[in-house]
Amino acid sequence: MKLVGVVGAGVMGSGLAQALAAHGYSVVLVDRAQAQLDRAADEVVRYARTGRLFGHDTEKYGDLTQRVSYTTELGDLGAAEFVIENITENWSLKAEIYPRLDEICPPETVFAANTSCIPITKIAGATRRPDRVLGMHFMNPVPMKSTVEVIRGWHTSEATIATAMELLEGLEKRGIVVNDMPGFVSNRVLMLMVNEAIFLLQDGVAGAAEVDEIFRSCFGHASGPLETADLIGLDTILYSIEGLQEFYGDSKYRPCPLLRKMVDAGLHGRKTGQGFFSYS
Ligand code: NAD
Repeated sequence: MKLVGVVGAGVMGSGLAQALAAHGYSVVLVDRAQAQLDRAADEVVRYARTGRLFGHDTEKYGDLTQRVSYTTELGDLGAAEFVIENITENWSLKAEIYPRLDEICPPETVFAANTSCIPITKIAGATRRPDRVLGMHFMNPVPMKSTVEVIRGWHTSEATIATAMELLEGLEKRGIVVNDMPGFVSNRVLMLMVNEAIFLLQDGVAGAAEVDEIFRSCFGHASGPLETADLIGLDTILYSIEGLQEFYGDSKYRPCPLLRKMVDAGLHGRKTGQGFFSYS
């Protein structure tokens, strides 16, 4: 497999393009917003430069930028052997894009949904190839994270899982295969934890720095829940927790009002420069 299509050039899509290109894959990166493609292109250049600075294989990192092409046309994915979809965590957007991908890509192309919470079986149902659809929940930042949650939908074939594992091997990552339910393993737990941490802040129990410090110092977590939320993006957290509430019909997933308010105010975390912490 040499040509991988990456749809969505936001936080995850741009990280994926970097990781794929650094491991020798050619990447077609698609986004409907040219500004997002421009930003992703800048990040790919920065990633290649940092790689060279840190003495990584200069040939590989030098070539990296040449291996990514950028387009607003989904139709440019016609030759992709594997497609990883990373558009906004919104079912109506995803429901619209999969039938189009189904028309554009050859029947053997595998579709991997890098969704936080949307069931893979539901996504697969929007295509005529449900056996060739699976979930690949990459962690953020993609180039630095070693392990990927791989989700088997109702119809996902073993051959599809094997193809995805082969791609991960090429990326020097490990996959852990789980079965499909909204939020899978990681986000069914993480989203609740992050949401509850925002309630703590809203209720005045502790400030953001103190909440996170408890998790870092007392539990030895690498980062606290609010810093993690800023990294993921508060908009993505809100869409995910709303999705979990809808799919499970369980009020334990009700989004914290402070989270809604911050998203409405445009405080989306690292990607906008301000979330629970400041990044400017
Ligand atoms: P993001 O908001 O940074 O980027 C989403 C991108 O999708 C934007 O650039 C937007 O222009 C593009 N887009 C939206 N609709 C489109 C369409 N119809 N066609 C083409 N492009 C379209 O979001 P993100 O954080 O990169 O998340 C993307 C997906 O990955 C989501 O499903 C999210 O749940 C999942 N995810 C996110 C993280 C994380 O830490 N941020 C981790 C794992 C998985």
